[in-house]
Amino acid sequence: MSFWQALILLLTAIGGVIAIRFTTTLDLNKFLEYRQERQVAKMRAACPHTILVEVPINGHREYRWKTLAVDVDAGDGVAVKKITVCSRCGTQLLGGLAQANDARLYFERDPDAWLKQEAYFLKVARKLMH
Ligand SMILES: [Zn+2]
Repeated sequence: MSFWQALILLLTAIGGVIAIRFTTTLDLNKFLEYRQERQVAKMRAACPHTILVEVPINGHREYRWKTLAVDVDAGDGVAVKKITVCSRCGTQLLGGLAQANDARLYFERDPDAWLKQEAYFLKVARKLMH
């Protein structure tokens, strides 16, 4: 093997290593992006779209469930189009405020279900912060 053949072989090897590293980095970024998207989807699915709020009633504290759903304008500036979204997780509620109120009533009747779902939501949300 001549000096030039050895040099070409060496440069090819270095080029190969750089190419592999570059591809790996790209794939890693894509993977992290994909994982983040999946995590956000998981968080949205976990959100009860309802919170527990303290309300003063006759001088003492009581707790009530309140929907986080709000109607927002999703129109293009010309046509008005209202959609209902959860103000916390951003999920679009296709059933509108009626669906949100159904969820609120459900949690009002079954507080344990809300506690469970809220705890799960917080667990998933915490993972997104790290
Ligand atoms: Zn939500």
